[in-house]
Amino acid sequence: MAQPDIFNTNIVGPIHSRRLGISLGVNLLPKDGKICSFDCLYCECGWNRDHRGGRFPLANVVMQELEEKLRQMQRDGALLDVITFAGNGEPTLHPDFDKVIDRTLQLRDEYYPSAKVSVLSNATQIGNPRVHAALLKVDNNILKIDGAFDATIRQIDQPGDASYSVRRVVEGMKSFQGQLIVQTMFVRGEHDGQCVDNTTPAEVAAWQDLMREIRPHQIMVYSLDRPTPEPNLTRVPKEEMARLVAPLVAEGFNVSIA
Ligand code: SF4
Repeated sequence: MAQPDIFNTNIVGPIHSRRLGISLGVNLLPKDGKICSFDCLYCECGWNRDHRGGRFPLANVVMQELEEKLRQMQRDGALLDVITFAGNGEPTLHPDFDKVIDRTLQLRDEYYPSAKVSVLSNATQIGNPRVHAALLKVDNNILKIDGAFDATIRQIDQPGDASYSVRRVVEGMKSFQGQLIVQTMFVRGEHDGQCVDNTTPAEVAAWQDLMREIRPHQIMVYSLDRPTPEPNLTRVPKEEMARLVAPLVAEGFNVSIA
């Protein structure tokens, strides 16, 4: 099986994303490395330790590349549903993330006014007022939470900050007052000889309660699709994820399953 790997460009695609449609990716992270405050067992970029040493690209360089790409796509009559911030790590760690968002929204309005701007984030920086304000401006503020217990996040997402707390992140998510999409990866398997499973009844019941507390305008659940750095993980079938989210759907939550 192919190994996970990093993107070697700042602008990726456009590609067809199963969750977002026709998406042009913006990688605000190094082209030759990964920078993330998590080190998820399932990260498509691989382990942090294997991609050390890269530096953040300059914001104006990335924005110039984005403008050139949008201009070329417009000239070619290409379709675009969404400009998506993802890439080799956590985009909100970029020191000029807020300025980049402002410029991206201008470019979107100029070239593809009907396209959305999405940010895929692990939510570790939402307590930073500049990041919080920038995320409130985008169309799809997609924030990850893979479990309701600190121990689960420590195991699956391996935060670099020893003081990471689910409670703090949940309070941060609540402060968006519904202007967020919560994204959760369901996964099972083994890591370092320990069982990994955020789909047990206790995990799912606590996670559902978090959703009721956060009240996002959408919940996206998904499972593995690509090679993972921890090879002993398995995909949770769609039908099973549908059962896990059924009580929330019955309560009126907008839930998508990929
Ligand atoms: S938060 Fe995203 S980029 Fe960071 S390690 Fe996890 S999957 Fe990879």
